[in-house]
Amino acid sequence: MRRQACSAKAPQSAQTDKKAEPMGERILIIEDEAAIADALVYALGSDGFEVHWCQLGRDGLDWLQRQPVDLLVLDVGLPDTSGFELCRQIRQFSAVPVVFLTARKEEVDRIVGLEIGADDYVVKPFSPREISARVRAILRRSQGRVVIQPAPAAADAPPALFEHDPPRKRIRYQGHWLDLTRYEYLVLSALLRHPEHVLSREQLMDSAWDDPSANFDRVVDTHIKGIRAKLKRIDPAHDPIVTHRGLGYSLDMGTGQPRT
Ligand code: CA
Repeated sequence: MRRQACSAKAPQSAQTDKKAEPMGERILIIEDEAAIADALVYALGSDGFEVHWCQLGRDGLDWLQRQPVDLLVLDVGLPDTSGFELCRQIRQFSAVPVVFLTARKEEVDRIVGLEIGADDYVVKPFSPREISARVRAILRRSQGRVVIQPAPAAADAPPALFEHDPPRKRIRYQGHWLDLTRYEYLVLSALLRHPEHVLSREQLMDSAWDDPSANFDRVVDTHIKGIRAKLKRIDPAHDPIVTHRGLGYSLDMGTGQPRT
C-alpha cells in the first residue's frame, strides 16, 4: 500500500556518464500514481534536478506555499481536486511554470484553451525522458528572464519591448521595470505568454482570478487601463495593447506577425 502523502526525494545520481551537470532546480511533482511519479522522480533526479513528489493536490499546494519551486509537473486527474482547479489556485500567488500530465487527449483542448497558465502538457503514456527534455526547455526559457524581442536583434538593437522575469513576478517595458499590482501583473503576463494573440476578457479573467465576479468586462478593462497608464508613462507615443472590440485584447509586439 502506498500511502505516502508527500515524499521528499533527494536528487538521484545518474548511472551513466552522460549525466548533465547538476542544475539543482527544484521540481515539484503532483501525481497520484506512484509508478508514474517514481519514473519521473528518477528521470528528473538523474538530470540533476531536486525533485519532490506529492500525491495529493492539497499537499502539493501546501508545499508550494512553503517552499521555492522552479517548475511544477501537475497531473490533471488527482483524487482530491482537479489539476485545473489547483493550477488556478496556484496562479493566485505563483507564476511557477506548470507542465500538465493528462491521461486523456480530450483534456488537451482544455489545457490549451482555458488559459489557466499552463506552460506545456504531456499526454500519458509518455517517456520520462520526454518530460525531462521539456522541463529543461521551459526552465531555459523562464529562468532568469523570458526576453521577448520585438524585432531581429541588430548590433545597436533597442532593449526588448517586454522582458518577463517570472521567478520575481516582474515585467520590464522598454528597459524599465513596471510597478504593477498583482492583477495587472497576471493580466499582462497572460498577454505576454501569447504575444499577438487575442485573449478574451474571460480568458484573461481565468488566468488572473480565482473567483471571477459577475462583471468580467469591467474588471479586466480596469486593469488594462491601469497597465496602459503605466506603459504610457514610459513611452507616451506607443500603446502596445490592442483592443479588439467584442473580442478582447492582444499585445502588439511590433514584429509584423499576422494577428490571430
Ligand atoms: Ca491521476
